[in-house]
Amino acid sequence: MAEQPCQCSDCQRFYKEHDRLIREFPSFKQQQELNWASIQSFRTLCSKVTDELRRQLSDRETNEAVSQKDKHISDTEINEALDELESVNAHLYSIEALMERIFDSKVSNNIESKFKQIADELAPDPLSMDRLILNRLFHQTPDFPDKKNIN
Ligand SMILES: [Zn+2]
Repeated sequence: MAEQPCQCSDCQRFYKEHDRLIREFPSFKQQQELNWASIQSFRTLCSKVTDELRRQLSDRETNEAVSQKDKHISDTEINEALDELESVNAHLYSIEALMERIFDSKVSNNIESKFKQIADELAPDPLSMDRLILNRLFHQTPDFPDKKNIN
């Protein structure tokens, strides 16, 4: 007997989003484009925020006027965020290189039809095993929490 899928709010959000992306982007080509756009938008946003934080930090070093809305962010907070974001940007850059390889692949119209057919079957299924396996990243608690130590 398979275990019941987790119904915590993080997991439910994931199930909903996972199915929506299959329903709204049911072809191989659409999934390629969706994932490319998704990686690019994440990278664009992270890079812009990183640039902005760097600029803010250097303004402070040269004692230039810091705008009112930025004053509540401490230097420590900015430095920590820069470390994190630079690491994320490096990873996104690597993923982008791998995504380019995925973009080299094409499938025939017959195979695209198969994609759409499977997407129709998959998206309404509330207990898709593939989705449950993928969801471990979104889950808010570790796979094997040591419950004895919580209280
Ligand atoms: Zn969960």
